[in-house]
Amino acid sequence: MRKQFIVIGLGRFGFSLTRTLVKNGHEVLAVDKNEHLVQEVSSIATHALQADCTDKLALQELGAQNFQHAIVAIGDDLQASILITLLLKELNVPAITAKANNEIHGTLLSKVGADHIIFPERDMAIRLGQQLSSESLIDYIELSPDYNLVEIKAPTVIDGMSLKELNIRAEYGCTILAIKSGAQINISPRADERISGGDLLLMIGSNEDIHRLVTDWERKVY
Ligand code: ADP
Repeated sequence: MRKQFIVIGLGRFGFSLTRTLVKNGHEVLAVDKNEHLVQEVSSIATHALQADCTDKLALQELGAQNFQHAIVAIGDDLQASILITLLLKELNVPAITAKANNEIHGTLLSKVGADHIIFPERDMAIRLGQQLSSESLIDYIELSPDYNLVEIKAPTVIDGMSLKELNIRAEYGCTILAIKSGAQINISPRADERISGGDLLLMIGSNEDIHRLVTDWERKVY
C-alpha cells in the first residue's frame, strides 16, 4: 500500500530513509532547513521543501497535519528534535517516529508524544555485535525483548540431518519457518526435511533458546 511520509531532517539518516521509502513505492515529502540538502534530495524525494520546522505555522503550511506518518530525523539539535515532535503531536499526526542520539533524548521524545523511537547508532552496534559474535547468525529481527526472528547459516556439522533428527522444536523450543537453499525457499518445512550445510534457516525462538542452539552447533555437538 502506498503511504505518505514526511521526513524532517535530511542528515545521513533522513536522507537514506527518504531514498528507501521512495524506492519502496511510497510518497515522501523531505524537509530540511538547509537549502543545499533540500536541493540534493529533490532528485530522490517525491517533494522536497526548505523550512524551519520548529515554527508551527511553517509545519502547517507544509501540510504536516495531512501525513499518516512523520519521521523526525534530527539527532544533534536536541531542542529542535523535541519541539518538532511536540508540534507534530499537536497537529494530530497519527504516527510519529523520532530518532534519538542517546537514552535521555529518547525519554524526552517519548514524553512529548513520539510513538516510536529509534536509536540508529546503538541498534546498529548491537546488531553488528551479535553478527560478529557468531559465525552462523546472519541477521535478526527483535520481536520483543525476549523473542527474536533470526536468519542462521546451517553449519556443515548438521549437513544431511533432518529437522526431526536435530530435534529443534523439542530440544530447543525453536521453530524453523523456512529453509533457503540457493535460490529455492522451502516454507513451513516438514519434520523429515533435510538440511544442507550453508542453507539459510529462518527461525523463531526465545533469545536464550536460539543462543543455546547456535552455541551447540558451533561447538559441533552433533
Ligand atoms: P544525522 O546524524 O542523521 O546526519 P543530524 O542530526 O546531523 O542527523 O542532521 C539533522 C538534519 O536536520 C540537518 O540536516 C539539519 O539541517 C536538519 N534540521 C535541524 N533542525 C531543523 C529544523 N528546525 N527544521 C528543519 N530541519 C532541521
